[in-house]
Amino acid sequence: MRTISEAMNVAGLFSEEELSLLAAARQAAKRAHCPYSHFAVGAALETDIGIVLGCNVENASYGLSCCAERVALFTAVAQGATRFLRLALSCPATAPDAPVESRMPCGACLQVLSEFLPLETPLLIDGVGKKQLKELLPYPFR
Ligand SMILES: [Zn+2]
Repeated sequence: MRTISEAMNVAGLFSEEELSLLAAARQAAKRAHCPYSHFAVGAALETDIGIVLGCNVENASYGLSCCAERVALFTAVAQGATRFLRLALSCPATAPDAPVESRMPCGACLQVLSEFLPLETPLLIDGVGKKQLKELLPYPFR
C-alpha cells in the first residue's frame, strides 16, 4: 500500500530529494515524546550545516511542550546553522482522510520559523503538498 506522499509523488508533486527529506521527517516522528496527545510529529530542516531533525516533545505541564518544527529549528540554530533551505513535516499516524488542517504547522511555529527562514522557504507537508512559509503566514509579526 502506498503512502499518501508516495501517491502524491506519482503526480510529480515532490522531487526525489524532497521525498528523501519527508522520509527523514517521518523517521524523526518515531522519536516523538507524546504520551499525552499520542500525536507524533517529525520535522527535517535542511540547512547549510546539513539536515537537522526534530520531533514533538510533550510535558505533563502541557504548555511546556514543544512542536517538532521548533525543536528542529532551535537545534539547528544551536548547532550553528545560518541558512535554512526547506522544512519537511510529517504526522505519520494521521488518518488519510483527516482534514488538511491536522497536518499543518501551528501558528506559533510559523511565527518562530519566520524569524529565521525566508518567507519563500518551501515547507513540504506530508499528505498535503508544498507550500511557501508566506502562504501560511503572510504577515508575520515584526
Ligand atoms: Zn507548532
